[in-house]
Amino acid sequence: MTSDSPSPVAAKAWRPETVAVAAGRPAAEADAPLNTPVTFASTYVGSLDTTDGSLGYGRYGNPTWQALEEGIGALEGGQAITFSSGMAAAHAVLELVEPGSTVVLPDTCYLGVAAAVDQRAARYGWTVHRVDVADTDAVLAAAEGADLVWVESPTNPMIEVADLPAIGAALAGRVRLVVDNTFATPLLQQPLSVGADIVLHAVTKFIAGHSDALLGALVLRESDTATFAALQAVRRSHGATPGTMEAYLALRGLRTLPLRLNQAQANAGVLAERLAAHPAVQRVRYPGLPGDPGHERAARTMSGFGSVMSVELADAASADAFVAATGLWVFATSLGGVESMLERRRRWAGELTSVPEGLVRLSVGVEHVEDLWSDLEQALDPLS
Ligand code: PLP
Repeated sequence: MTSDSPSPVAAKAWRPETVAVAAGRPAAEADAPLNTPVTFASTYVGSLDTTDGSLGYGRYGNPTWQALEEGIGALEGGQAITFSSGMAAAHAVLELVEPGSTVVLPDTCYLGVAAAVDQRAARYGWTVHRVDVADTDAVLAAAEGADLVWVESPTNPMIEVADLPAIGAALAGRVRLVVDNTFATPLLQQPLSVGADIVLHAVTKFIAGHSDALLGALVLRESDTATFAALQAVRRSHGATPGTMEAYLALRGLRTLPLRLNQAQANAGVLAERLAAHPAVQRVRYPGLPGDPGHERAARTMSGFGSVMSVELADAASADAFVAATGLWVFATSLGGVESMLERRRRWAGELTSVPEGLVRLSVGVEHVEDLWSDLEQALDPLS
């Protein structure tokens, strides 16, 4: 099967837990391996028959990437193409935007994407409208006459929730809608089903899930063959191809995504409530909390609240002291791994100034929740 043939798994309408385990496997034949092997190949044997040899060269395709693409595509309900990182996937989308275009971007979103849009805007004369993605009217007003609307939801690191069904329905067929679904994963929302045109994943995060591989993916509706071909051409010419070993690791990670996310999300729910009650914490940003501005919307549009939250402490010094005092929680700048991680986001010079200085983002992992809480509590208590 090639990456541009429809997935038989999606067609069977299995539940996501089953799809995560069953998609992207070799045909069940005697002595076939259960898992698609790692194929190390910079080139493939050619054929004079042009109906054969769809791979051709190592930069054009690889069976191990294709297995991962089948898995991600089946979970999102579309056709996936993988890249060397989430940022490579983001740049591939931006490469399709013409000079002079108008682009709508969340006022807080992953800083790498914001910087990439700003750089291209300056070079190609784009007009960029920054909007609060939680304000649907503002998104739709900014989208009037736009060429691309980029939504991240929940957002990094402010954990705001967009009304994807409302935005998708209003823009369908009019403006290209890209949704960065990294935080929610395909298990909590499937943007293609509510009108998005392109879904982006930093596969590096939840899908790979073990903090050991960088990868990205884009997922499109099966019918959007023209955009898919354009993205394939960008990947080929930029050489933004996933490592074969990384693709294998990410597919192995995808097998347990439902289990990991369930556990991490259950932990996050408990920790969010306890953090909200701690005197050193001024605010918890987590849509699972009934008082969160995104709660009602997330409850209506997502099938879970995820496992990333942010807490606001008094100032940068308190936040740094908190992060430095944890032991089990790893001070690191990623998310979506089995390991619980936290960091003060404004330590990065490129982070948006609208993000409070004392904001710490927590990516809750799959450890025992009481061990996670003990570590947070002993780090927070001296700051009360
Ligand atoms: N999108 C989001 C929401 C992210 O958090 C990140 C990275 O943190 C990216 C995209 C970029 O992914 P990568 O680090 O794999 O390039």
